[in-house]
Amino acid sequence: MTDSPDSNVYDLVILGAGSGGYAAALRAAQLDLSVALIEADKLGGTCLHRGCIPTKALLHSAEVADTIHDSASFGINSSFEGIDMGTVNSYKDGVVGRLYKGLQGLVKAAKNIDYITGWGKLVAKDAVEVDGTVYKGRNIVLASGSYPRTLPGLEIGGRVITSDEGLQLDTVPKSAIVLGGGVIGVEFASVWKSFGADVTIIEALPNLVPNEDVALSKALERAFRKRKINFATGTRFSGVEQNDDGVVVTTEDGKTFEAEVLLVAVGRGPATEGLGYEEQGVPMERGFVRTNERLHTGVGNIYAVGDIVPGLQLAHRGFQQGIFVAEEIAGLQPAAIVESGIPRVTYCEPEVASVGLTEDQAKEAHGDAIETVEFNLAGNGKSQILKTTGFVKLVRQQDGPIVGVHMIGTRVGELIAEGQLIVNWEAYPDDVASLVHAHPTQNESLGEAALALAGKPLHSHS
Ligand SMILES: Cc1cc2nc3c(=O)[nH]c(=O)nc-3n(C[C@H](O)[C@H](O)[C@H](O)COP(=O)(O)OP(=O)(O)OC[C@H]3O[C@@H](n4cnc5c(N)ncnc54)[C@H](O)[C@@H]3O)c2cc1C
Repeated sequence: MTDSPDSNVYDLVILGAGSGGYAAALRAAQLDLSVALIEADKLGGTCLHRGCIPTKALLHSAEVADTIHDSASFGINSSFEGIDMGTVNSYKDGVVGRLYKGLQGLVKAAKNIDYITGWGKLVAKDAVEVDGTVYKGRNIVLASGSYPRTLPGLEIGGRVITSDEGLQLDTVPKSAIVLGGGVIGVEFASVWKSFGADVTIIEALPNLVPNEDVALSKALERAFRKRKINFATGTRFSGVEQNDDGVVVTTEDGKTFEAEVLLVAVGRGPATEGLGYEEQGVPMERGFVRTNERLHTGVGNIYAVGDIVPGLQLAHRGFQQGIFVAEEIAGLQPAAIVESGIPRVTYCEPEVASVGLTEDQAKEAHGDAIETVEFNLAGNGKSQILKTTGFVKLVRQQDGPIVGVHMIGTRVGELIAEGQLIVNWEAYPDDVASLVHAHPTQNESLGEAALALAGKPLHSHS
């Protein structure tokens, strides 16, 4: 075992260069702090290589397929010839590759970041060891991310796959069962359906996207029914058998489902095992790293960011936490991140987007002193042009600010930018209603919902 090459003690030693880790590194470098950024696999982590970016590229190809299928209804005659997965994959990999190159350039350009390739282990409260070399840090940032979880007794292999393998398929399965109706599950279901597969989702909880406001869950279920995406909710998985042709899945209520592949999308576990965290006294809970609201573990100068910290497992949460920790270490005393203020987008068709409290959460927080309004996209010109249905739902504290924005419809993910400003700046309906929204945009539907909540609806049908 040797000490860091030049016996340097870094300001930050960061374990893991995914969204959380590299954001911490880049911000720390801007603040003139020295950084050792340690990564066993690829700079960019899950989001760039196996998560957000490749899935959204597939979803875009799926949207193109849907557009061709529907083109005649817009007066454009075209014929759909099929899906060429080879080209879909090279388009997807091209997007990932360009962003990867750009990110490598950013890290390289930051002169005070030493990028270290290799598998690291926390060996002291102020040190990480990689291949026999110890990197000492005045501060340590744990950012080791997450991996696709499975269920007890459900082995991944062959026709039983996770999102990692799902992104690498070189053919479209004729049929697929998706275990889990959360974000990852419904996104894959949406892609495969658009690509022509027969898809069935199995979800143990009563609704699809069960963490969303129940109005969004129900609307997504209606939309999926219309798209002929099958789903069984409130149904628990009990077993799977696979043979040369496919899989047979059984559920606890005695039903069986057959398909070519089974995608296991039951959530992501924290990648913390065997990394020395427990040995150094880092507080853990079901494998996650416990921190206070300033992302400090309570041990030495050890912080944690990203998917290993309990809460929303989202890349932009990781970015923000990484930036926060770098600024905290630099003594800038940044404001703590409010978890409910983090926007959430599910990019299936139709898209689901939300920020802030659901109606049920608002009731828990404020009792009956809340008001809600739904603005139906039927009254929104741009949504009519796009032929999408859906709505914008606002939840406000009575006589108080808007505390939740919930939306469903084609492309509504892009509207979350205003939604998050509304919630995080604690805007009142009148504040939003008095801002002019460009016409015809889908954004207007947020303005319209605020107008309705402010008691002066324009295009709302009661
Ligand atoms: C299919 C899918 C779709 C997704 N879509 C979205 C989306 O649309 N929007 C969104 O916001 N989020 C999305 N996510 C979630 C997002 O990818 C994660 O929230 C994000 O990547 C978490 O960042 P992180 O830095 O915590 O961890 P990761 O990105 O997992 O990075 C951790 C890194 O640490 C490295 N590492 C781990 N252990 C060690 C070690 N011992 N030594 C060295 N290196 C190590 C790993 O190799 C990895 O590169 C998606 C995830 C998946 C799987």
